This record gives sequence, structure tokens and C-alpha cells, in this order.
Amino acid sequence: MLPVWLIVAGCTTGRDSASAWDSRPGSDFVDSGTAAPFGPPVVIGAGLAGLAAAADLPGAIVLEASDAPGGRAANWGQRRFFFHGTDVQVALGAEESVEEVMADWPSMTGGEATDDTRTFLAESASVHDRMEALGLRFLDPPGPDLITGRDELFTVEAEGDELAAAFVASAAAGVELRLSTPATSLLVDDSGLIGVETADGVIETNRVLLATGGYTGRIDIVERYASWPAGTWEAPHEENSGFAWDLAQSLGLGLSHLDAMGAFDGYLGDYAGGGILPLGTAAPLLWVDRTGQRFVDESELGSIELETAFWAHDPTTVVTTDADVLSFAYLGTDDEYLSVLRCYPSFAALAAAEGVDPVGLQATVEAVKAFHAATATDPLGRAGYDFPALAGTPCAATEARKTAKSYGGVTVDDEGRALMADGSVLPGLWVAGEAAGMGAPGMGGLRGFDGSLSAVVWSGWRAAASMNAAGIGP
Ligand SMILES: Cc1cc2nc3c(=O)[nH]c(=O)nc-3n(C[C@H](O)[C@H](O)[C@H](O)COP(=O)(O)OP(=O)(O)OC[C@H]3O[C@@H](n4cnc5c(N)ncnc54)[C@H](O)[C@@H]3O)c2cc1C
Repeated sequence: MLPVWLIVAGCTTGRDSASAWDSRPGSDFVDSGTAAPFGPPVVIGAGLAGLAAAADLPGAIVLEASDAPGGRAANWGQRRFFFHGTDVQVALGAEESVEEVMADWPSMTGGEATDDTRTFLAESASVHDRMEALGLRFLDPPGPDLITGRDELFTVEAEGDELAAAFVASAAAGVELRLSTPATSLLVDDSGLIGVETADGVIETNRVLLATGGYTGRIDIVERYASWPAGTWEAPHEENSGFAWDLAQSLGLGLSHLDAMGAFDGYLGDYAGGGILPLGTAAPLLWVDRTGQRFVDESELGSIELETAFWAHDPTTVVTTDADVLSFAYLGTDDEYLSVLRCYPSFAALAAAEGVDPVGLQATVEAVKAFHAATATDPLGRAGYDFPALAGTPCAATEARKTAKSYGGVTVDDEGRALMADGSVLPGLWVAGEAAGMGAPGMGGLRGFDGSLSAVVWSGWRAAASMNAAGIGP
């Protein structure tokens, strides 16, 4: 439990200048409070959410626990951002309305679209344009979303550290970035939030943005909320430390959609790196139930439909051959893939050891060989070239998942202001990025959407606009 300090508010200062993002489409933030802001705006966390906000918060202090800015985005290679309605897409003839995308949201994400989803979709093109104005470039053309096939996935050209540097360079005048300086607690009194504590002392302020990332690296939190069977998942991203979740416990902040987590599918095993070896999409495998029958087109790993089908057919056995897996093994070494496979001299031996009906499995194997050879068509719709050839040694594997992102988190209102568990605003505190479920809890459904980093950036700019507009107080 983190300490919550009660101290008396300090001196007052005037409001910072208006934000460039105040002019974003649909911006209608109003000064609804009564107390004057005091102290510098403080941003906790220099991931992309915090750095985006710092662009619009002159004189802000940005506290970063680690020794480098950029958070998780500084360290990964995929660099995918989801955008809707950009000029690039319009030029390609993609004219879908926000409402059409909203209608597809359940199949994309496993959950209903929210009002925050709608606002994000309506504003995502301006996030794209503002990122380009920072000097960032996206590969052309955008790629298709795995589920809808719409061209909405943009890959930024910059490597992670360059991406972080572009956001750091966009900081407003007078922003001070304090690296290796974690916030240790927030201070509140009856008026709301009044300060931030660090090892160097207390910063008295009533405008704080919590942008400390998600909780998918915390086994205790994931275990509490994930519906996955024990032993079939892992939570490897230690940097996703759950600081906001801890704060929510001690301050009584609202939390929601905590079971909504993005995850990579993979094989559960005991390979050199330990734990789950990720798969890509269209992996050469079959899913069979205990009768040995296939029940779904397995070619789009990671989709909600597949996830649901997998657990609905419990127990499900993953069947493939060593040769098929090795032809596909680009996310790990050959030895790693081989070590997560349980291989047998024949499909009959596999069926006996894995508890699958041997006659049903043999029939499935013959059918799949025909699909692969294009002499028959899969009634479940999987394309022939997607099927494993099944010419190698028969193997089974255990499907599993590796947590990646948090789509639940601290509840916020439509300006990014933190809400208490009873739904009231905690004056002085805003939350953005993964700390607020990649923007706002629930906006990414149950499994989230590819490229949701654009919502992280969007929420940082949204919160900063509100912080600039805010009077503080109930
Ligand atoms: C391998 C991998 C690949 C990914 N690929 C993609 C992708 O292609 N597209 C996509 O959309 N998303 C992707 N993601 C997810 C995405 O990178 C993150 O969701 C996003 O970067 C989160 O940004 P954030 O600013 O909210 O939080 P973070 O990036 O987690 O930043 C939070 C910052 O707060 C700091 N912090 C934490 N606690 C404190 C404290 N007490 N005091 C001060 N500072 C603190 C942390 O050190 C960190 O720098 C990927 C993630 C991983 C791990």
C-alpha cells in the first residue's frame, strides 16, 4: 500500500498558456472548477503519454523513474499505430465513417465501443497529422487490420529511441525532465490532489498527470483479473509495473475493465528464454478437440473469435509437425521451437498420449493433407496454402498467451480527469496512456486493437488540454 499524505496546499500561481491541442476538433473543455491552480503541472512517467502531454504544458516537471525517456515504446520494434480517416486513407479510397468503424469494434476488440472510442476515432487523424508535424514519418501505404482488413495500421519509420526523442523535442517551453526520479506517492486533502512526493521532496501542485503505464507485468494483478486458465500465460513486461493500480488502491480511485488485456498467442514450453514462445498469424497448426475434429479456421491467431472458440472447446490440442513449425519459426530459434513441441512417432501415438480420439484425428490429418494439396476445400474456410503440410514428425503443443498491454485501468472522465470509485472527479489528477487502459478503460474492448499506441498519445494530448483549461476544485 502506498502512503497518502495530507498536507496544506502551498502558494498559488497563474494559469499556463493555452494548448495547441485546445483547438483539436470537438474540444470543449471548460473551466468548471473554483480553486486556482497552484504549482507547476507535474507529469509522472515519460512514456509517450506523458511526453505527449508535456508538449502542451509549459513549465511542467516530468518525473521519470528510469534513466531514459520513452517508456515501453522506446524499446520495441513493431512501431504500429492505428489511425482512421487520415488524408492518406481518404486518398486510398477508404471512406468509412466513424460509426461504421464503431459497428465493427466488437469483432475487432471483443467489446462494445465506448464514447471514448468514438472521440478517439474522430480525432485519430489529427493525432497522425500532429505526429507528422513532429517530424515523424509513417511507412506508406498503411497495412490492414487483421480482423477487418481495413488499412488502418501505420508503421512509424523511427526506431523506438528516435520516436521518444521526437516527443522529447516537442516539449513546451520550460519543461523539466527529471530522469531517475520516481514519484513515490500523491498527496491529497479535502480539496483534492495537492502534491507529488519524490525522494527529493514534495512538489506542491494541483495539476498532476499520472502516465505511469499499465499492469501487465504484475503477476499478482494479472492473476486477479485474467480469465485464462492457470499455467497458460505469463506476464513478462516488468516495466509495466502497476504503479497506477497501486495508487488507485490507496487513494480509492475507480478502476475498470481490468480483465481487458492485450496478449500474444504462443506455445507454452520450456525453451531457453523460458515460458511462452510467441507465434505469428497464420501459424501452421491445427486445433482439435478430444474427438480429433477441427472446429475453427485457425489462420488468424489472436482474434477474439479464435480465442473464444479455443476455450469453448476445452480441452483443445494443438497439432502440427516439427517440419511445419520449423518452416515458420522466425520469432525464435529452431531449438526453442523444438523444445516446446511434444513429438511422437505417429499421429496414433500422439492421439493416445494427448487424450484425443485416434480415428477422428487420423480423419482430420487426411483431410488437412488434401486441403494443403488443394485437392479439397476446407469447409471451415481456411485457405489451402495456410495449412500445415503434415509431412514431418507429428507433434502437439500447448496454446498459451503472453501479456502485452493493459486495456483496463484508472477510470477517467471525457477529459482524462481521474475518477474516484464512486464516480466523482478527484480534483487535480488526470490519467493518460496505459495507466488509463490505453487512453480510457474499456475503449479497447476486451482484447484491444492493434496500434493502440495512437490512443496513448491522443490521451496525453487530451489530458494536457484539460489541465490547461482547468480550474481546480469541486
Ligand atoms: C514488445 C512490445 C511491442 C509493442 N508493440 C506495440 C505496437 O506495435 N503498437 C502499439 O500500439 N503498442 C505496442 N506496444 C505497447 C505500447 O508500447 C505501450 O502500450 C505504450 O508505449 C504505453 O505508453 P505509456 O506512455 O502509457 O506507458 P509506458 O510506455 O509504460 O511509460 C510509463 C513510464 O512511466 C514510468 N514510471 C512508472 N512508474 C513511475 C513512477 N512511480 N514515477 C515516475 N515514472 C514512473 C516508466 O518508467 C515509464 O517510462 C508494445 C509493447 C511491447 C512490450
